[in-house]
Amino acid sequence: MPSTARVMTSKTERTLELARARKRRYQAAHPEVGREYLRRWRAAHPDYFRIYSTQWRAANPEQARGYVRKWSAANREVKRKINRAWATANPQKVAAYFKRYRAKNVERVLERTRQWKQANLDKVREYVRTRRARLRGNGIEPVSEARIIARDGMVCHLCSLPVSKKEFSLDHVVPISKGGRHAESNLRVAHVLCNARRGNRSLCVAN
Ligand SMILES: [Zn+2]
Repeated sequence: MPSTARVMTSKTERTLELARARKRRYQAAHPEVGREYLRRWRAAHPDYFRIYSTQWRAANPEQARGYVRKWSAANREVKRKINRAWATANPQKVAAYFKRYRAKNVERVLERTRQWKQANLDKVREYVRTRRARLRGNGIEPVSEARIIARDGMVCHLCSLPVSKKEFSLDHVVPISKGGRHAESNLRVAHVLCNARRGNRSLCVAN
């Protein structure tokens, strides 16, 4: 009895092995059929596939990272969109990440900030200008240097002399310290020096 069973088993095994080899040959010759089958199977068994992928990634971290890198390189736009959506949904994780990054790369962050400021002097100036008004809660409005110059010309409202680009500044008619708003209606072209000399005095005292 045992010998017959062994013969039967080995016969069955040979048959199975032949079938497997046939299948391999067919798959090698028709890769698109296999891919389509896999795609349909995944769609029909989302949970199973998710669990399986999670386990596979945990067991093959290096290979998994390689796949992700390759896919990201080939799908830059999609990857950017996914990242943005994730960042919007996880603001605290993003903040924690940047906090760690800044702590680890102090020099690099300082250098990059310096470069950004150098390239965005107008934004820096506007930020500094609006800062006191913001802190005091006076209210600020979007201000355009170009619009004010078009309105007033390059003439100092304190001494009535022409102002060069180098001497250019914007003076608050009602000083921020006296509740003036940072708004185009409260701003005039002025020499840097005239502006500094005036300080926060009211206009009648300065003139
Ligand atoms: Zn002046």
